[in-house]
Amino acid sequence: MKSVVIVGAGLAGMVAARGLKRAGFSVTLLEATDSAGGKAGSNIKEGRLVEHGYHIFPAWYLNVRDLLAELDIKLIDFDKFYYLRSKAESNDAPVTDRFMVMYGFNSVTAIIKNIFSGLAPWPEVFLQAYFVIDALAERMSRRYFLDRISRTGLLRSRWYASDDIASLEGESTLKASAVPAYEMSAMTARLVTGYWLRNRKPFLSILKTDMQHALIEPMVEKLQSEGITIEYRCRVSEIETNGSQISAITCADGTRKEADYFLITTPLEITRQLMQKNLMALDPDLGNFGHLEAAPMTAIHLSLNRKIDGLPSQHVFFKGGRYGLSFIDQSQHWPGLDTTELSFISSNFIPLQGLDEGAQFEMLFDEIRQYIDISTDDIAHYVFQSNQEVPLFINTVAAWPNRPEVNSSKINNLFFAGDWVRNAIDLACMEGAVSSAMNVARTIDQSVNGTSDLPSARVPRRYNAFTMMLAKWALFPFALIIWVLARLGAGR
Ligand SMILES: Cc1cc2nc3c(=O)[nH]c(=O)nc-3n(C[C@H](O)[C@H](O)[C@H](O)COP(=O)(O)OP(=O)(O)OC[C@H]3O[C@@H](n4cnc5c(N)ncnc54)[C@H](O)[C@@H]3O)c2cc1C
Repeated sequence: MKSVVIVGAGLAGMVAARGLKRAGFSVTLLEATDSAGGKAGSNIKEGRLVEHGYHIFPAWYLNVRDLLAELDIKLIDFDKFYYLRSKAESNDAPVTDRFMVMYGFNSVTAIIKNIFSGLAPWPEVFLQAYFVIDALAERMSRRYFLDRISRTGLLRSRWYASDDIASLEGESTLKASAVPAYEMSAMTARLVTGYWLRNRKPFLSILKTDMQHALIEPMVEKLQSEGITIEYRCRVSEIETNGSQISAITCADGTRKEADYFLITTPLEITRQLMQKNLMALDPDLGNFGHLEAAPMTAIHLSLNRKIDGLPSQHVFFKGGRYGLSFIDQSQHWPGLDTTELSFISSNFIPLQGLDEGAQFEMLFDEIRQYIDISTDDIAHYVFQSNQEVPLFINTVAAWPNRPEVNSSKINNLFFAGDWVRNAIDLACMEGAVSSAMNVARTIDQSVNGTSDLPSARVPRRYNAFTMMLAKWALFPFALIIWVLARLGAGR
């Protein structure tokens, strides 16, 4: 029986372990910390298990949804989300009057409602929607060029581009992906918007309780029931080579593991450190990981001692704001919460990185108070997860050529998986992590047995560029007229 050592028990490591075990490999799964799940899991703060941040599941997460179905995990579906204006922008109007509803792209009516949502002058919102279609009309055969310009750069090349559209794009891209639109690869944005547009229902979903209890623990139990144990507190610190192959890995405590195959599913910043001279001498491309970037996505969990009435149960983005804040009121979904429990994510935490944790929390809380009427007296308990130690890979311009394929290494018993490893989803997210893990398990199986019964990751459907081109030209006369209206100041 061939053996494989998998480093990292995040979603990618666990899914790959499951596949390889089912294919008959002897699997050793090593995890640096005390618990599995990685960024999708929790860590212990002040004696409580706290998730790294809320997680959303769009309809196009086909492989993650298959995994949930296998574990019999149900989701709560949302068909819309909200933008919340600040108090300053709305003359201190009550919070209930400051929400703007945005619908999933389920129907023409929903799209028209979004255009007139009040988010920005309606001609600019229309032209932003036109840009989404226009960008989807870009052929993926132009992938090389698309990956080397940013979303904002692509917009700038269009005749109807304006600062307003750039700002709308910037806002939605940052809050949905934690990558500024001026840094995000136009190719990644094109893929993700394409998946979202074609797989519309539900617009997005959340779990019925926190990630650890709802997903990670059932997953760990499933692995155990299939004979896989996770070896915790094994922080891999060195990869040994012998000739042209990996011979063993060593954990910080000196534990040494030998195997036929080695699968690294650690995050980018850790994997980069593990690629030392012995490996680079065998495969200089491993040094390319140095070009890639990661940034923290920060979370705050606020448990209030009172109920705030009038908050939507769906996902809410602060309109504007410095730190890209969005939240979900978990008390409207999770059992046993009688008072408001707000789970925030900051998608633009970089400006605060140099501050101490207390100051970081205060700056974020100050911004929260500019949108929601709460004071420190309302807080029964809070947890601040700066997540600086677990930054998320960001899909910057030209990242793709420097990301590894699951089997791209010239070292033939070294494989990679994880959200930053190349896969059809492209965006760093759970679906990307799971997709790469399924593909790597199949690839390793194939390299041993010649064939594999393990499934490849499913790829969500998207409209082809030609259909989008037709839509773009059909809408062109409207876009032209509305562009003239926009320049005349209509809707302001
Ligand atoms: C705040 C936040 C919110 C998010 N929201 C969403 C969302 O809404 N939707 C979505 O799809 N995705 C979201 N994500 C991203 C998603 O969580 C990740 O993309 C996904 O979980 C990555 O899984 P992974 O297995 O590739 O990597 P990781 O989860 O990073 O797992 C890597 C594992 O390797 C372990 N490890 C690290 N170093 C070593 C070592 N030296 N030796 C052994 N083990 C090691 C780690 O402890 C970890 O368990 C969010 C992430 C964050 C931080």
